[in-house]
Amino acid sequence: MNSTPQRGSALSRREFGKLGIAAGLTAALAPARAAGANNATADGASVVERTVPKMAFDPSADFEVWQRQLRDRLTDILVLPEDPQAYPLDTQIELEEETEQYTLNRISFGSEPGERVPGYLLLPKDHQPPHPVMICLQGHSPGMHISIGRAKTERDQRSIDGGRDLALQAVTEGWAALAIEQRGFGERAEEGLECRDASLRTLHCGRPMTGGRVLDVMRAIDFIEAQPELDAARVGCMGNSAGGTVSFYAACAEPRLRLAVVSCSFCPFADSWLADPPRCPCGYLPGIYAVADMPDLAGLIAPRDLIIVAGAEDHLAPEQSVRNGAETAAAAFEAAGAPERFQLLVGDGGHQFYPELAWPAIQSVMEAWTG
Ligand SMILES: [Zn+2]
Repeated sequence: MNSTPQRGSALSRREFGKLGIAAGLTAALAPARAAGANNATADGASVVERTVPKMAFDPSADFEVWQRQLRDRLTDILVLPEDPQAYPLDTQIELEEETEQYTLNRISFGSEPGERVPGYLLLPKDHQPPHPVMICLQGHSPGMHISIGRAKTERDQRSIDGGRDLALQAVTEGWAALAIEQRGFGERAEEGLECRDASLRTLHCGRPMTGGRVLDVMRAIDFIEAQPELDAARVGCMGNSAGGTVSFYAACAEPRLRLAVVSCSFCPFADSWLADPPRCPCGYLPGIYAVADMPDLAGLIAPRDLIIVAGAEDHLAPEQSVRNGAETAAAAFEAAGAPERFQLLVGDGGHQFYPELAWPAIQSVMEAWTG
């Protein structure tokens, strides 16, 4: 499957205009100019230092109004279509393997014109349907086969050893697991085109790569809603690194996601996306920092469940900065009347997933759902 939009599937002029890049940046810089900090050569302040998020969480504001307005703004920045369900899913499901523990199905569904999402659906055999579902997203990796523990190379095995066989973990814990291939990775990577270049091309055509990946998660929930053995009222999304980033934004934008497990990807922007080393373009969202920082955006998930999993030695998300950001996120959950729905877990290692920390927390969330 070609990962670039086909001719005729380009965004409408209206959607293209929703990006508002220039307007967002202009608005962000305006107060700095008014305050006299008007020029980088005079005061040495970088564009990052001069940018002030306009819709940061404010405990004195009306929480629900703020949340609604910020979600609308994020939806614009992600360039999500107004009616994603207008495009037919045209679902295909094929049994691939039976093991003692689970049934493995190869699936695919349409997301939007030119984009078909392949995946694996694993159903646990020792639990009665309808099953809760965990959508499993790989980060920068060879592809979704890592989620089901299938190593094709030594690199794959190292990735799996870093706790990234997410779908196998989920089905072992009694969840159905839906591992989908993200745009630009694995089966959806275009021959000879790395994620960074695919992302820049996508952006040039009108949408950040993360927006397309979030749309695929939304359509995955449409797929889940159509399967009688799956419980669409209990759907989570989890991922490490770029998989965590998409899990986070998908939960921000999509209220049907009841849980997000965000590993090694939550951090204030100034110490992550806007710090060295430069990151892959797939995670940059035009104008987002002029609107809100990542800890502010976490408030969009409240009062649903958010589990942040961090690594104390993660060079891409410094621990102290993650903890500082978590304080803001926790305050937003408090304002939503759901402080217990936000959790921060910190593992001892680096940029990897920590199943031994995450799963007990996930299962306690599940128990709270089922009472
Ligand atoms: Zn990337």
